[in-house]
Amino acid sequence: MSKAELSDVEDLVHSCGFYHAKAKDIIGAAQGILDRFNGEVPDNIEDLTSLPGVGRKTANLIVGDIFKKPAVVADTHLIRITNLIGLVETKDPKKVELELKKILPPDESNDFCHRMVLHGRAVCIARRPQCDNCCIRDYCKSSKN
Ligand code: SF4
Repeated sequence: MSKAELSDVEDLVHSCGFYHAKAKDIIGAAQGILDRFNGEVPDNIEDLTSLPGVGRKTANLIVGDIFKKPAVVADTHLIRITNLIGLVETKDPKKVELELKKILPPDESNDFCHRMVLHGRAVCIARRPQCDNCCIRDYCKSSKN
């Protein structure tokens, strides 16, 4: 991938949107991994976010899902639901990540985030949360309002 032609990578990611920028980042990240990390994908947030196109959300996803280390993926569902529950009081992704890292048991943090995403799709749906059917209703600050 580090030696790929930009147009070839663009063809691969065309359906994702922003394909030109993404293709450039993919090639740049592959070159960075090869040049600076001996061809090994880094297993920590600092090194991962030094690569083109890799933000904290992607870095945490890689650290948690690939390397099975503690991670908090601050996606839109996690940010919305943890604010509703009352675990955090900020919409800033980095602050949500760092606040949750302080309170979640490290071994549970990655699964917790995936569960919040599923919960946000199935039950705590934006603009029409199904509070009557919610298994964490008793712990949710918003359900009391
Ligand atoms: S009780 Fe309602 S607002 Fe709270 S997490 Fe459940 S569905 Fe969301």
